Amino acid sequence: MEQELLFSDLGISAEILKAVEEMGYTHPSTIQSQSIPFMLEGKDVIGQAQTGTGKTAAFGIPIIDNVDPAINKPQALILCPTRELAVQVEGEIVKLSKFKRGISSTCIYGGEAIDRQIRSLRKGVQIVVGTPGRVMDHIDRGTLKLDMVRIIVLDEADEMLDMGFREDIESILSDCPDERQTVFFSATMPKPILDLTKKYQDNPEIVRVLRKELTVENISQVYYEVKSPLKMELMARLMNLNQFSLSVVFCNTKRVTDEVTEELIARGIGAEALHGDLSQAQRTKVMNKFRKGHVSVLVATDVAARGIDVDNVEAVFNYDLPLDEENYVHRIGRTGRAGKSGTAINFITGRKDMFRLRDIEKFIKTSIAKMAPPSVSDLI
Ligand code: ADP
Ligand code: MG
Repeated sequence: MEQELLFSDLGISAEILKAVEEMGYTHPSTIQSQSIPFMLEGKDVIGQAQTGTGKTAAFGIPIIDNVDPAINKPQALILCPTRELAVQVEGEIVKLSKFKRGISSTCIYGGEAIDRQIRSLRKGVQIVVGTPGRVMDHIDRGTLKLDMVRIIVLDEADEMLDMGFREDIESILSDCPDERQTVFFSATMPKPILDLTKKYQDNPEIVRVLRKELTVENISQVYYEVKSPLKMELMARLMNLNQFSLSVVFCNTKRVTDEVTEELIARGIGAEALHGDLSQAQRTKVMNKFRKGHVSVLVATDVAARGIDVDNVEAVFNYDLPLDEENYVHRIGRTGRAGKSGTAINFITGRKDMFRLRDIEKFIKTSIAKMAPPSVSDLI
């Protein structure tokens, strides 16, 4: 079975095995055990797995083993949507390559003076991690040369596209040598990404890990049966009783998203709406407020929530049940990240909802516990 696989079964170097052990990883995650062998073979890969499933090491490990330490030029380029993620990814690469001689990496992103980045690139690095805009900038200045790049990874590809990096990404991909390995990692694979993979990949191996790994262990999933007009009241009470630090509320339409946001605010709960009508700048503003905890509740539609990548989300409320089971998994995966525990709370307002909940349970192969609503006396 998958779980029995060890890092030593994957064909990676002794130096990385040592690093992985030091990092406390005992077993490869599913996305790691499935992607690493393909990537080591030099194949193009599409890797889809939820946030928190270890995608960084899934491409980081084979990159470190595949670059040539004797050549001090960029051989692998990893694109990430944000500065924070780029820094995180490069940090993981530094740790993973700790025992490998002659491997160096650097991180280049916007919002930082470019001089340090130019100096570090000039020193000669094999692995470059960066955000698309700044990478383009270095290419234009001639401070980043792609002629030796043999591996390019698009990490969190869905988020990069959502953030409007498509043009930059296509330009960078076109600038890379044709003889290269092209790899996409993403939590979701919407059509625009599949279009990109068709255009820029060669016969990719598809590794898809959905369901289980994320939902079960550390997310407790419950439901409440409630009459439709009382749903708002119940949710607000649950929020007040539990005092979750950060929570995300999912609705199926923009209209409900706005209504719920207003209702929560009217009840003294700091909430912000996130939906497709917002401009990118507005979305970023909302996300930053949430990330910093200036509002504790984010009310979102599925589409808008795709890029939500915030640790410490303690609860996910499905104010409306999602229309399909896969979305349920994506939604509740916003909590319980990085090994922390989380709660997913569902509201059932009628028979239709109940049927849908049963379908979800079948899909996730887990039963969702029925809870009694807090009693009236609790509520006041
Ligand atoms: P993703 O990119 O899929 O969201 P990350 O690569 O950021 O996930 O990893 C999520 C967390 O899991 C990180 O804290 C990472 O250190 C940890 N992690 C990754 N692989 C393993 C593993 N094999 N065993 C234990 N922890 C791991
Ligand atoms: Mg990641």
